[in-house]
Amino acid sequence: MKFFTATQVIVFCLFSLNVFAQSPQSVGQDHPDRTQPVEPFKIIDNIYFIGTTIQAASYLITGSQGHILFDTTFEDRVPMMLENIEKLGFNPRDVKMLIGTHAHSDHVGGHSLMQEMTGADILSSEEDKGVVENGGDGSWAPAEVNRVIDGGDVVSLGEIEIKVHDTPGHTPGTLTFTMVAEEEGQKYNVILLGGLRIATRPLLGNKDYPNIADDMAETFYYLQNLPVDVYLGAHGYWYDLRNKIPRIPQEGYRAFINPEEYRRAVDGWQQVFVNMLAEEGKALVK
Ligand SMILES: [Zn+2]
Repeated sequence: MKFFTATQVIVFCLFSLNVFAQSPQSVGQDHPDRTQPVEPFKIIDNIYFIGTTIQAASYLITGSQGHILFDTTFEDRVPMMLENIEKLGFNPRDVKMLIGTHAHSDHVGGHSLMQEMTGADILSSEEDKGVVENGGDGSWAPAEVNRVIDGGDVVSLGEIEIKVHDTPGHTPGTLTFTMVAEEEGQKYNVILLGGLRIATRPLLGNKDYPNIADDMAETFYYLQNLPVDVYLGAHGYWYDLRNKIPRIPQEGYRAFINPEEYRRAVDGWQQVFVNMLAEEGKALVK
């Protein structure tokens, strides 16, 4: 992904700013979103939340030929995730694929143990594969990647079909996933957003990640043009999950139809990106 120069990125972003944008904030170590366990629940159709907290979000997509699990979070959460799968009436041994949104400890840290417990294959982007396999240089248990996936691929298992999208920037190999859910005869475009926070600086002249600014700019543009009815993310607080859970008994899956929330979040992160870029640009011309 390198269609834009950094200058083009700045100009392009300045024109696409949305003044109502709001970037989802991260939550501190003691925040209840990190500390309070969450009971597993159905989101929509065959998509379930099995994460152990709002922060440590994990999703199970179920099917007659087996299930796909997104984000194993941390290794010490794996037993509770397995319990959550059983609480929902599914068998952990039927989980056939483990997919991380990106190679950070809170998304792939449990891969190795989860693979051992389920026998599932691990799927990763080419760019993040090395980090998954070396355990973030010793930050978590290394796990062997069984299959590389890339933007444009469709991951299928029985009747499950999940489209893979390259959305680099947060890490060079961050992926986003979309699928179609059906409820009461209606189809809904579901997105599982991989990550948009800027995880490494500087944006200009970054030796570890030279294309970061161009990647991010293109990712924002790409995501702003995807059709979305149900926005889910690699952390529950991105889409205000805390306030949606109490609505489920009344509203069911409708509590998760939130296209405006998606637009606001993507635009918000873009605004953070543009502000940082402008700041770095100013420092350069001083
Ligand atoms: Zn991350």
